[in-house]
Amino acid sequence: MNIILFGPPGAGKGTQAKMLIEQRGWVQLSTGDMLRAAKAAGTELGKRVAAIIDAGELVSDEIVIALIKERLPEAEAAGGAIFDGFPRTVAQAEALDALLAERGTQVDVVIELKVVDDELIQRLVKRAAEQGRADDTEEVIRNRLKVYYDQTAPLIPYFADQGKLKEVDGMGSMEEVAAGIAAALDAK
Ligand code: AMP
Repeated sequence: MNIILFGPPGAGKGTQAKMLIEQRGWVQLSTGDMLRAAKAAGTELGKRVAAIIDAGELVSDEIVIALIKERLPEAEAAGGAIFDGFPRTVAQAEALDALLAERGTQVDVVIELKVVDDELIQRLVKRAAEQGRADDTEEVIRNRLKVYYDQTAPLIPYFADQGKLKEVDGMGSMEEVAAGIAAALDAK
């Protein structure tokens, strides 16, 4: 099973991915986590992407596609991949479709978590206070939302055309959202 958790920053993709890991034993493939790990470790890649992440811009398609490709076998072995924060551009989505097709599999379902902007900003500001992420300042948060609407939201019609898009209300409690996702997955 390959699922994409889709939605703007602060929609709850990471939280819900972690709940799915516990419930279903799948593997979370978060390009944001991979890039932050590279940055924290000070690798060559980490140095290259640090300023881009801190500004809330997108890292190149080539870099994130390579990161995902490397981790696909692990997800396959676990019986499921939860793509979190990837794909973020149409080029990334096309590359993912091609990579999975080469392996005889495909994206099964795209769960779009719907959360209104005011709530997203509130959540991200709160997370900034709790985790101190460099890209969680109010200015960068606003830029990340803009980047989402400009570059990532165009994926919604892409997934809808493939008949894979399922909307889930992301405004409730963690448990309510998880129940919405479970219902969408079980309806597959
Ligand atoms: P996230 O934790 O998913 O919000 O990602 C944090 C940051 O990592 C983003 O603001 C981007 O700078 C970068 N990033 C993560 N995933 C991608 C991706 N799929 N494409 C491009 N940049 C990404």
